Amino acid sequence: MRAVVYTEPERFTVREIADRALQPGEVRIKNLVVGVCGTDQHLHLGEFGARYPLTPGHEIVGEIVEVAESVTGLTVGDRVAVDNSVYCLHCENCRRGDFRFCQNGIALGLQVAGGFAEHTIAAAAKIYPIGDLSLDAAALIEPTACVVHGLDVLGLTPGQSVLVTGAGPTSQILAQLLVHGGASFVTMAAPTQFKLDLAKTHGVNETVLLDRADFTTAADRLRDLAPHGFDVVIEATGAVGILQNVLPHVRSGGTLMVYGMASESETITIHPFEIFRREITIKGSFAQSYEFARAIDLLKARKVNPDGIITHRFGLDEYATALQALRAPDCLKAVVHPST
Ligand SMILES: [Zn+2]
Ligand SMILES: [Zn+2]
Repeated sequence: MRAVVYTEPERFTVREIADRALQPGEVRIKNLVVGVCGTDQHLHLGEFGARYPLTPGHEIVGEIVEVAESVTGLTVGDRVAVDNSVYCLHCENCRRGDFRFCQNGIALGLQVAGGFAEHTIAAAAKIYPIGDLSLDAAALIEPTACVVHGLDVLGLTPGQSVLVTGAGPTSQILAQLLVHGGASFVTMAAPTQFKLDLAKTHGVNETVLLDRADFTTAADRLRDLAPHGFDVVIEATGAVGILQNVLPHVRSGGTLMVYGMASESETITIHPFEIFRREITIKGSFAQSYEFARAIDLLKARKVNPDGIITHRFGLDEYATALQALRAPDCLKAVVHPST
């Protein structure tokens, strides 16, 4: 089969590699659509514990072409999504059910072969049939699962006002679910107008164009919209310059959620007095564990509407271009169709 194969950071080829035999409990999937995301950009640079040789691709949707003898409940021809997380199930955190903090956790597309290949092998236990869900919707299952986890962590109270900074695919899904999830007013602030416009068509109440280099104009507008701050602010860009500036826009007694991913070495300055005096809660949210079933249900019910989110499509041989597309101003979500 053909696959993207990295031998070291920034060096990959798309080439023919051998299909390995299935182990008990595994299935082989012909990959139909695989999302490209910021994580793949980090992996390209050798971050996130990438293990070589590496075939990236962790947002995997395809069709089962082979099942190991021991597998029950899955059949050749089933259209499925792959939960890419692999937990050891025996470390201290796994034994408490805190799978996201598994001390030996790995993931398809990061340390084990992922989806940017004609085929991927995965454990049957991590396979979720998607029925007749469209491929465009299915491509959003993994990001939606991560958002579902974020909303679990957030614990939104009905009627709360929310500010989301960022308008990428994850922010779009987040905003749609906040709109459906009881928020009284959802504001999105981000640097790209067309992404804000899309969010508005999906129900966001107000949008604010934000200049990454100068937060002041956006700050004035946000203060107009919420003079006492928002009950919840979700920072989803990962830009510390924005995270640093949003705290004053959290209402006293409100919550700031760190959803975007900053580099490990970056820092911000916080005045502990402000957290203390204004009783601000700061939360984080990382990945997902066992949220695929709910994500699929939300996409089937169109509570997450994929329309307009996928802007760029590539074949397997165009992986280099797909990675570049992530930086293009007109790109919201890029996907690879490995089998076409
Ligand atoms: Zn991703
Ligand atoms: Zn573990």
